[in-house]
Amino acid sequence: MSYVDEVLERVIAQNPAQPEFHQAVKEVLESLRVVIEADEEKYRKEALLERLTTPDRQILFRVAWVDDKGQTQVNNAFRVQFNDAIGPYKGGLRFHPSVNLGIIKFLGFEQIFKNSLTGLPIGGGKGGSDFDPKGKSDREVMAFCQSFMTELYKYIGKDVDVPAGDIGVGAREIGFLYGQYKRITNLYEGVLTGKGLSYGGSLVRTQATGYGLVYLTEELLKCHGIDLAGKVVAVSGAGNVATYAIEKAEQLGAKVVTCSDSNGWIYDHDGIDVALLKDIKEVRRARLTEYAAAKPNAEYHEGKGVWSVKVDVALPCATQNELNLDDAKALVANGAMAVVEGANMPTTLEATQYLQENGILFVPGKASNAGGVATSALEMSQNSERLSWTAEEVDAKLKGIMVNIYHNIDDASKKYGMEGNYVAGANIAGFLKVVNAMEAQGIV
Ligand code: NDP
Repeated sequence: MSYVDEVLERVIAQNPAQPEFHQAVKEVLESLRVVIEADEEKYRKEALLERLTTPDRQILFRVAWVDDKGQTQVNNAFRVQFNDAIGPYKGGLRFHPSVNLGIIKFLGFEQIFKNSLTGLPIGGGKGGSDFDPKGKSDREVMAFCQSFMTELYKYIGKDVDVPAGDIGVGAREIGFLYGQYKRITNLYEGVLTGKGLSYGGSLVRTQATGYGLVYLTEELLKCHGIDLAGKVVAVSGAGNVATYAIEKAEQLGAKVVTCSDSNGWIYDHDGIDVALLKDIKEVRRARLTEYAAAKPNAEYHEGKGVWSVKVDVALPCATQNELNLDDAKALVANGAMAVVEGANMPTTLEATQYLQENGILFVPGKASNAGGVATSALEMSQNSERLSWTAEEVDAKLKGIMVNIYHNIDDASKKYGMEGNYVAGANIAGFLKVVNAMEAQGIV
């Protein structure tokens, strides 16, 4: 049996009931096959793939907190420090009822390659909890965040592990987490990113993942002789990534006609009104039904459906496995030309394969949503320097990083004989840097 297949079997046997983790490992190892098989015995001897697919450390802890009725609540929490070969662990915290160890491991594993692709010195990690901030009062969210950090602070630090936001963790949660870290450690250090601007945050960090996604999409299309301006775009999600992807796509002349949340989706033929969307999601923390109430020309549909609309470009920005084979078929039938992932692993393996086989330009999230973590790394640099860069400076660096990532994955796909396969290009380019550092540092 080939070394890649051996390790895939091992990962599945040793990590039962973690399908998202298996999926992420399978996608990466399948595209590394060509690299590994060129020097299989060396990699097998070093147990390189076993080391790469086994986290350095997995921290599981209980978070007890008291709700507004005086009832004590208990949540499960996780921090997986996956690989620090090229820098301190870096990756977001997700607060969502679906969170479990397997999901955090899939996200942490993906993060290794994404962080490597940014070209910045950051390793891979991820964390979170099955706590649901939705419907909780600010006091309840604060109580949860303080209890969460009272345990997590033992394992993180500006040169050790630097968490950030993800689903359910935005500016409010980062503020509460940072306040508690500082209170316990007495350290004013850049231990979290996505901080508010008045206490060490970076300009453009809020917008970075969505903006970066669109910068990469623009470059991808440009290199295929296509102009993003004038194109019709479908976006899923209505959170941080989706909102700023919509904003930047519209600034660059595209028309975004959809967005969604976990209850339903909006079709707005006139183009999504991003100011209204921000007011609903960022200020009122309300549902998308409010969008249709405010804009009678827009349609609100319950359930899924964003990918059934006829568009040129699809940007999935909600969550994992939200774009399946049927959705991929609908996009192809409707003449879409590109699918560029804003979320982490939003496209199932079968859907990815179908899109690629049907000539759709497809870029995986680990490349196209890396703008968020890249700007987090820029926030770390500013914190270390005790300086703040201007928005123009950060935005220009973000754009440069995204353009560079596209060319990097494109070059890798060509070098390994898989031109246009950006999944393989991203996995190989991300892997080579990490593996080089791992080998240089010996068996650890
Ligand atoms: P937010 O919490 O801000 O928004 C998530 C959006 O997706 C919401 O509209 C939410 O709807 C929807 N959503 C979440 N879970 C589901 C689900 N199970 N089914 C349908 N819709 C769902 O998160 P972000 O925008 O920060 O993150 C979105 C994706 O992007 C995630 O995959 C995340 O890992 C990834 N990402 C985020 C980065 C960042 O900088 N924030 C960086 C890189 C990747 P509802 O409000 O109804 O739950």
